[in-house]
Amino acid sequence: MEPVSVIGAGLAGCEAAWQLAGRGVPVVLHEMKPEKMTPAHHAPEYAELVCSNSLRSDQLENAVGLLKEELRRSGSLILACADAHRVEAGGALAVDRHAFSRAVTEQIRSHPLITVEEGEVRQIPDRGQVIVASGPLTSEALSAEIERLLPGSRYLNFYDAAAPLVTFDSVDMDHAWFASRYDKGTADYVNCALSEEEYAAFWRELCAAQEAEVHGFEDKSVFEGCMPVEVMARRGVDTLRYGPLKPKGLRDPRTGQTPYAVVQLRKDNADGTIYNLVGFQTHLKWPEQRRVFSMIPALKNAEFVRYGVMHRNTYLDSPRLLDRYYRVRGNERLMFAGQITGVEGYVESTASGFLCAVELARRLLDKPPVDFPQETALGALALYVSNESVGDFQPMNVNFGIIPPLDHRVKGKRNKNAELSQRALGLLETLDWT
Ligand SMILES: Cc1cc2nc3c(=O)[nH]c(=O)nc-3n(C[C@H](O)[C@H](O)[C@H](O)COP(=O)(O)OP(=O)(O)OC[C@H]3O[C@@H](n4cnc5c(N)ncnc54)[C@H](O)[C@@H]3O)c2cc1C
Repeated sequence: MEPVSVIGAGLAGCEAAWQLAGRGVPVVLHEMKPEKMTPAHHAPEYAELVCSNSLRSDQLENAVGLLKEELRRSGSLILACADAHRVEAGGALAVDRHAFSRAVTEQIRSHPLITVEEGEVRQIPDRGQVIVASGPLTSEALSAEIERLLPGSRYLNFYDAAAPLVTFDSVDMDHAWFASRYDKGTADYVNCALSEEEYAAFWRELCAAQEAEVHGFEDKSVFEGCMPVEVMARRGVDTLRYGPLKPKGLRDPRTGQTPYAVVQLRKDNADGTIYNLVGFQTHLKWPEQRRVFSMIPALKNAEFVRYGVMHRNTYLDSPRLLDRYYRVRGNERLMFAGQITGVEGYVESTASGFLCAVELARRLLDKPPVDFPQETALGALALYVSNESVGDFQPMNVNFGIIPPLDHRVKGKRNKNAELSQRALGLLETLDWT
């Protein structure tokens, strides 16, 4: 069988190579380290954790805990190595990063069906199946090549800031209402009102809140250009009221009055389970985001499914580009996996490498696709990333908002999430993903 080319030996690329090889499909895995390093990679080993050593929660009441358990039960290389090299971290799965990367590297290098080719890939191989898993810091030459292959609006985006996302369920609608400005079109926005006193307190805290550290590889000029909400706030007490918090054209139906300030939330997925805070791109530390944004009365108990982040990051406009197998629509020879597809995080990147490789191996072996259902975290992530109804696509952590709700009421969020996880794991057992 002709080998599959996998570009990038990060989390997604190593997982993909392992799953293919484990099914008898030969792989050539290309990695530019150590000859060439991205601004965030420093070690020669594969599957390098570029920042935190935590793969986040390992509890089934948490969506990333579910995703990990699904990967574990499906024979993931990354999860096996992480479990083998875990360090104490409460309910989280944290690892000894070097021991972890060494273990992945050893497994990859000793697999008889995986050949590693060192050096930067500047051109996509012109024959055979290709999985591009070159990460958020894909080298410039390869980025240019991807742009050439995917021209027009679908080519690589450059992203520097994102606003937080909250679940709709956690928004206190006693302090908010649905409307569009000047009642134009349908009532698409959730409008969160602030009184003059509430606004003044919010503004003071926003101006004083702690920002996240600037890493050496980040370009300072990017921050100046993209105007985080806290930077805008510091320009003056009323700047936000003429910007993202402007109340004009919005009347609170409970008072019949225009509030002093309004934060608008916009639907982030077709199901309306997740909303983003419009204009709230931010560089604040995550606990600060929670603290300060929760001062908005409707967001007092908001559940943040993603915090605002800012760093150099390239990813594809996947909803217009990829199908549920992370395969380029109209060019089935070419697949993408990992953070470059817009999944966010170590475990999510691993999951996309896993699913993409399992489905590819089955295709090459003339087996039907698995079609991981949306009830599983693996399936939900792939379906979100390839969902054409997602307009303003931004990188996404796995969360329960992208998994269909239960068909019955369960008291308490933890209990509900635990049931969602049990349903997913039960379904996983019925699938043939071999
Ligand atoms: C600064 C920064 C901090 C982050 N912090 C966290 C965090 O704390 N927690 C978290 O969950 N996620 C974090 N992320 C996101 C993180 O990048 C992903 O979660 C994960 O590493 C992505 O996995 P990947 O396999 O897609 O890409 P990567 O792990 O980046 O792997 C891509 C590989 O491709 C190689 N490569 C690139 N271009 C080429 C080329 N042309 N030819 C050959 N090889 C190439 C790279 O050298 C690299 O080894 C962070 C990202 C960045 C940029």
